[in-house]
Amino acid sequence: MVAAPNQTVDIAIIGGGIIGICIAAYLAEAGRNVTIFDRTGICEETSSGNAAALAFSDVLPLAHKGMIRHLPKWLADPLGPLSIPPAYLSKLLPWLIRFWRAGRSDRYEASLAAQAGMMRLAEAEWAGLMARSGTENMLREDGSLELYESEAEFKASLPGWAARQRFGIGFSHVEGDALAALQPGLSPRFVKGTFVPGWKTVTDPKLLGKAIWAYAETKGARFEKARIDHVGAGQD
Ligand SMILES: Cc1cc2nc3c(=O)[nH]c(=O)nc-3n(C[C@H](O)[C@H](O)[C@H](O)COP(=O)(O)OP(=O)(O)OC[C@H]3O[C@@H](n4cnc5c(N)ncnc54)[C@H](O)[C@@H]3O)c2cc1C
Repeated sequence: MVAAPNQTVDIAIIGGGIIGICIAAYLAEAGRNVTIFDRTGICEETSSGNAAALAFSDVLPLAHKGMIRHLPKWLADPLGPLSIPPAYLSKLLPWLIRFWRAGRSDRYEASLAAQAGMMRLAEAEWAGLMARSGTENMLREDGSLELYESEAEFKASLPGWAARQRFGIGFSHVEGDALAALQPGLSPRFVKGTFVPGWKTVTDPKLLGKAIWAYAETKGARFEKARIDHVGAGQD
């Protein structure tokens, strides 16, 4: 593959975020000649400052029944979780329809099982990669605490917890003294919580990325700073 004017590589990866560097590490371990091209550097964009969570217990599919009801509110909120430039909407529409259909009750269970399976695989693979790259000391296993401001909000979360339980994800609902012990100084507006012990975080996602990249380099992966404007097929 011709990846840049003066370089021929076996495999070119565009983007040196956590996804790109993990792929590079695996391919380099398998003996492939791999180069990452990134316009900035290794883990300099989203992967330098995400929330640092390895959320293996987050198995609920984004597409679910009733989700479509939230769409107008999300789109109208400038700080909401979804923003679609109006000019892009017609292009995105076929995908949005597939996404909506994926949330149908008869498909939800299959998506849930697939996501739970992927998380199990991801957890095992992360443990292996962290061990091989010597980054295990960056892992924090102190769990997560989900909080509710009302009994109604807590009750609305219960089907999701029941679904997680079906896939062996551990959690405990807490309130009163048990909640205060888990999070001292918590505002009294939080009436209940759910503690998930299997939730993991890393101390600094950027440092983790740099360390995994350093490992990938020892296996032969290379980096080139370049902005890729075009990907073509058919050239040797
Ligand atoms: C605020 C926030 C918090 C998040 N928290 C979490 C979390 O806690 N846990 C979690 O799992 N996920 C989280 N995410 C999701 C997050 O996107 C991923 O965690 C992860 O960082 C994404 O990695 P990536 O490699 O896909 O993308 P990036 O880290 O964004 O890497 C993409 C790279 O591609 C490069 N690039 C793009 N276009 C080109 C081009 N044309 N030519 C050359 N280079 C190019 C960019 O320079 C960049 O370095 C969070 C996201 C946000 C925004």
